[in-house]
Amino acid sequence: MDSTMKAVVKSRPEFGAELQEVPVPDPAPGQVLVKIQQTSICGSDYHIYKWNKWAENNVEIPQIMGHEMAGEVVALGCGVSSVSAGDFVSAETHIPCGHCYQCKTGLQHICVNMKILGVHTDGVFADYAVIEEVDVWKNDPAIPAKFASIQEPLGNAIDTIRAGEVAAKNILITGAGPAGLLSIPVAKAFGAANIIVSEPNDYRRELAEEVGADFVVNPLEDDLEAIVEEVTDGTGVDFVAEMSGVEAAINQGLRQITPGGTIALLGVPDDPVRLNLTDDLIFKGINMIGVTGREMFQTWYIARRLLKEKKIDIAPIITHEFPLEDFAKGMELMQSGNCGKIVLNP
Ligand SMILES: [Zn+2]
Ligand SMILES: [Zn+2]
Repeated sequence: MDSTMKAVVKSRPEFGAELQEVPVPDPAPGQVLVKIQQTSICGSDYHIYKWNKWAENNVEIPQIMGHEMAGEVVALGCGVSSVSAGDFVSAETHIPCGHCYQCKTGLQHICVNMKILGVHTDGVFADYAVIEEVDVWKNDPAIPAKFASIQEPLGNAIDTIRAGEVAAKNILITGAGPAGLLSIPVAKAFGAANIIVSEPNDYRRELAEEVGADFVVNPLEDDLEAIVEEVTDGTGVDFVAEMSGVEAAINQGLRQITPGGTIALLGVPDDPVRLNLTDDLIFKGINMIGVTGREMFQTWYIARRLLKEKKIDIAPIITHEFPLEDFAKGMELMQSGNCGKIVLNP
């Protein structure tokens, strides 16, 4: 086996990253070594790349970037029993401690000692990566390999849409970045009545329409409130999936919800946001739900069923594919917003 490998390393506390030749890691007890076949860029990778405040507070450099992956298990650490060499796997990216209050009560995904692959540990933008056995997900052979690394962000979308119990309801998705886009076919599969998507980027609005949004709105030009009123017969939407992390979008979303409705927030704002809690939340009896990552492993089973039974088609959302060496091209596209999901292959 190779002794060194190429890896995209966040090496300096500034914009950018570099391709380096580094040693192939050894799997410690309870870990497996995976030869990476597919990775994809997440919003958080872009935050680390551009080095925002969140990255500064969470990432210790130097570190290999990336967390969304699929690949083949090539070596096992001591004591690993549930995985075999040759398995085609993806990774859950939350690394739970296994012994805190949350872990012990079925809430591993919000473990208080949580580490995240590619944020707190070396990631997967490389030829090889070590994955904790607890995080290994054996891919269903019926699911096309090109979707394998996308299951992780798909889980974010599933968790967010699940929070709205959207069957036969009118919903608004604010932000059609990759997570917002993935939420559209999921909401359709879950039986949402009307899916309204609000997104300022033309490219992403077009994609949103292509993957099943019933109404797409440019919040900077169109009158979102008037459109919501028309679509919902004046009621307002039952549910908002907030995927943008933008203060104006969160406030605009809140104002479209019918009293008693729900907002689930997955988008991560860079700074504290100002909300009109009195008018837009308290007096309307709104449920506000924070979503982080994805429930382990309910969302993976749901993703498997949706993909296997072809209840969703996420192919149009994978808009670009590059060799790993061209990661900077992918990051540029992320910055422009003119992309859906970007796949990088070592
Ligand atoms: Zn991700
Ligand atoms: Zn824990």
